[in-house]
Amino acid sequence: MKTILAKVDLRQSESAEVIRTAAKILQEGGLVAFPTETVYGLGGNGLDGAACEKIYIAKGRPSDNPLILHISEFEELNAIVREISPAAQKLMDAFWPGPLTMVFPKADIVPLKATGGLDTVAVRFPSHPVARAIIKAAGLPIAAPSANSSGKPSPTRASHVEFDLNGKIDMIVDGGAAEWGLESTIVDVSGDVPMILRPGAVTKEMMEEVVGRVEIDPAILTKPAADLKPKAPGMKYTHYSPKAEVVLVKGERQAVADEINRLAALDMSNGKKTGVMATEETKDLYHADIILSLGSRDRPEQIGANLFKLLRKFDFLGAEKVYSEVFSEEGEGMAIMNRLNKAAGYQMIEAAKASDS
Ligand code: AMP
Ligand code: MG
Repeated sequence: MKTILAKVDLRQSESAEVIRTAAKILQEGGLVAFPTETVYGLGGNGLDGAACEKIYIAKGRPSDNPLILHISEFEELNAIVREISPAAQKLMDAFWPGPLTMVFPKADIVPLKATGGLDTVAVRFPSHPVARAIIKAAGLPIAAPSANSSGKPSPTRASHVEFDLNGKIDMIVDGGAAEWGLESTIVDVSGDVPMILRPGAVTKEMMEEVVGRVEIDPAILTKPAADLKPKAPGMKYTHYSPKAEVVLVKGERQAVADEINRLAALDMSNGKKTGVMATEETKDLYHADIILSLGSRDRPEQIGANLFKLLRKFDFLGAEKVYSEVFSEEGEGMAIMNRLNKAAGYQMIEAAKASDS
């Protein structure tokens, strides 16, 4: 398949043609990758089981890992869900359009192919103008998981999508770098108390201000059990992993640097290409083949926006082992640590304080 690659800038009139082409492909059952404020999405007609099937095939995604349907107007929600709880209504008023996905009881018109066989459907109303323009022009709810090959870090740039999916999908719309860089928060609003299934830009604290109590699925920061029944199906899969083995090292700054340098020296003496994922404040403390900075520790939004890009860069540079610093789990830090833990397959070691040795 020849994939159409098109740049889009909504300030320019040529973009209207790109949006029209994308919408037509979606209406005809094809697949289009497009930018959102979280990561790039791989879109297909969310009401067409065959189009959803194509998404699974292009990504190599397990068929029980459901898709998120994307809408471009509040009213479009009514057709695809059975019930909107008062809490859901408040959350939607506060955070849509934006990086929040909500899980509702699904309406019959949503095919089971879109929901991985579940009776619930995940819905998001993105704020990115290009995503909204494409969904609106298509006039359909658009199923759009992250536009990466399953298991790889989510794409934050069109070039990442091209690397993973060129030749496997109909079109890639390039609208520049995704601003937030981590996938949306997912909250299940089909029960009594909203339950966070995946942390993201909209934090527990932000939602609690709007609806009072919000719970967090305990699997978010710990390794899920092998027999986990898919309540949040994505949770049982190791996502976001680069080819390199990733190990997280926690502890006091200098102790972390000493421990990483010691382990990296061992790996390098064994001929392994070794990398360190550091920050602006710490990058000069390390000795390794590849040292990349996620950004400033004082700017978690920078760390979030750079995380997947850096994981892909380590792959590109041929890293076989990557050591990473860890971050606070407060606020948006929870989303960062959730993705880092998954990238590391939950391998975390604690650096001993200098005084302990
Ligand atoms: P992605 O679009 O690749 O970022 O992944 C979508 C994620 O949304 C999946 O991995 C699921 O964990 C979650 N999800 C989608 N639909 C549902 C649903 N009906 N119930 C629970 N989680 C869902
Ligand atoms: Mg994904």
